[in-house]
Amino acid sequence: MIWLWLIPLAVLLAAAYRWQFWRIPKKGLLALMYHHIGTVEQTDGQFPFTVTPQCFEQQLDMLQKHGFTPVGLEEVKEAARTGRRLPAKPVLLTFDDGHLDNFENLFPILKKRNVKVILFLITDYIGQKPGYISWEQVLEMHQSGLVQFGSHTLSHARLRKLSEEDILRELTQSKKVLEEHLGVPCEAFCYPFGSGGFDKRVRPLVFKAGYLFDFSTKPGINPWPWKAKKTLLRAFPRGGETLTDFYVQITRGKSKF
Ligand SMILES: [Zn+2]
Repeated sequence: MIWLWLIPLAVLLAAAYRWQFWRIPKKGLLALMYHHIGTVEQTDGQFPFTVTPQCFEQQLDMLQKHGFTPVGLEEVKEAARTGRRLPAKPVLLTFDDGHLDNFENLFPILKKRNVKVILFLITDYIGQKPGYISWEQVLEMHQSGLVQFGSHTLSHARLRKLSEEDILRELTQSKKVLEEHLGVPCEAFCYPFGSGGFDKRVRPLVFKAGYLFDFSTKPGINPWPWKAKKTLLRAFPRGGETLTDFYVQITRGKSKF
């Protein structure tokens, strides 16, 4: 009956593979990538990109319980410039695309809990495309002091497929539009399609356009001090994941493979 011992061993190995407990917890600047906050019915079945409001609040509870502090880009910029320390366990909560549910479902939670986030907007979609936020909503969120905005291009273009001229247009025009509406510098940029959307040719143009931060979809935790001003990694809590997954995400920077 010695083979019976193989059962718990197999369960243990499967759990280790599933949640990757063998990864060593990392310190540094955590950034989380979200898209929709809502129900899957509301978001066309975009399951991995949709976290329900209840689940998002549970995740905020977990961050708080484990001593994480949501920070804004200003704090990151200051800490990088002066070498001063960030708060213990800093986390940037980021949301891509500027979906309407960010205003309807996320913003009330942020106000209730006084939590800061960053939204990356596709500026041609604002007030133009159904399902995306309007300029009025952008301004209301901006005035709350809880939401900062970065650019996610004019048109959600796959930048590496464009000419240099068109890449610069996507980068500079979206930045300009956001600055004109908000009256503050727009210093953060997020690549559409993540790592598949940019290459070595695109990245220098992001800085040429005047951005200080570039965010990808590559998972991980950013080593701090942020020496080479590298593209910021973001962990990706997917819709339907458990809180155990989320714990692995926030301590290891990624769960699953
Ligand atoms: Zn996007």
